[in-house]
Amino acid sequence: MAVAEKAAQKQAQPKETTNPYESMIQRFDVAAKIIGLDEETYNILKAPQRQYVVSLPVAMDNGKVQVFEGYRIIHNTSRGPSKGGIRYALEVNQDEVKALAAWMTWKCAIADIPYGGAKGGITVDASKLSLGELERLTRAYTRAMVDVFGVDKDIPAPDVATGPREMAWIVDEFSRMQGSFQPGVVTGKPLHLGGSEGRVEATGRGVNTAALEAMRQMRLDPRKATAAVQGFGNVGSISAKYMEDAGLRIVAISDHTGAFSNSKGISIGDAIKYRNANNGVLKGFTGGKLISNEELLALDVDVLAPCALENQIRQANAADVKAQLIVEGANGPTTAGADKILQEKGIIVVPDILANGGGVTVSYMEWTQNRFGYYYAEDEINKRADRSMSRAFENVWAVGKKYKVSMRIAAYIFALEKVAKAVQSRGHY
Ligand code: GLU
Repeated sequence: MAVAEKAAQKQAQPKETTNPYESMIQRFDVAAKIIGLDEETYNILKAPQRQYVVSLPVAMDNGKVQVFEGYRIIHNTSRGPSKGGIRYALEVNQDEVKALAAWMTWKCAIADIPYGGAKGGITVDASKLSLGELERLTRAYTRAMVDVFGVDKDIPAPDVATGPREMAWIVDEFSRMQGSFQPGVVTGKPLHLGGSEGRVEATGRGVNTAALEAMRQMRLDPRKATAAVQGFGNVGSISAKYMEDAGLRIVAISDHTGAFSNSKGISIGDAIKYRNANNGVLKGFTGGKLISNEELLALDVDVLAPCALENQIRQANAADVKAQLIVEGANGPTTAGADKILQEKGIIVVPDILANGGGVTVSYMEWTQNRFGYYYAEDEINKRADRSMSRAFENVWAVGKKYKVSMRIAAYIFALEKVAKAVQSRGHY
């Protein structure tokens, strides 16, 4: 390789960062440059529209008041009300929520649903709170956000460590404050409170559909393929189950308590049963050999599905990845610095904002059902969700071919073009 070429490549390699917002901006910049986005629209889309930081005093079981920090960040509402989950985790901070909010804007555009993007979070280890403390915290957060949330304004949903139970508390608290039942203010609710069939499974189901679409393009037979899945929460476990049903051999799974590998294949049904009977964790699982999370990422498999948290595949370990295909069930599992290494290795990455869009797609169906007061059967929801994911995949794949870029950059280009058009036609003032 010529010296000048090497120098150019070095320059093109973005500075490694584990700040999710910087990671988002690095890809956004590349896409904006490729489509020649004008400076005004660039500046509008770069920064979130509104950022709320609240402090939440909660009466704890020991009689003391503890104060938690909560966030809700609205990235953009040009295409519709803002949409995005709420996560409870100790790592939650403003830059992370900013990135997650922007990713929701791009994700909704790619999934072709009429929403903007937002995200919320509370800095808390939810596993350390009692049920009562969790409920009081969730209600305090809802009260703090009563002017932010709204059926036509901002619609939360589950994310890391939140689920139908927390969504039910939010509906209740919000409805009390408004004086009328407002199930459409959140999605991911329990079925008996206006939730949708298929919502719990939706993200994992979509991850599998995205994986199968990619495998079809790569001429990889799912019945001869192996996969490693990182994370065994809602997204990881259900993605693994659908992939297993599609014929893939799942040779490794993991959660924060450990990773387990078995070259003969792990029964995902057994692993889910074990987790459910074991405080929600895989610790002590005997269906595979205990390995480290780093080893899981470097396994010689066909498909790697990171379905846990951000920054798992980084510049430092990307070269060790042996999978031919990465399907990102998590938001932001790959740093921008790792993108180029994976691309040079010829690894196809189905990016988060495409791969995990199945969840928000069924959230949209839940919200429309709430508004109409008419509910669909599960097969109808699944059929629509599958079609939507396949279409989104095809759209992004076509952009990748057109601009000769990775699927990640193609996804950003596709989303950016769509959101920019909405921003521009609504006009500036
Ligand atoms: N938290 C999920 C995500 O990151 C779902 C968001 C939603 O359904 O609004 O896509």
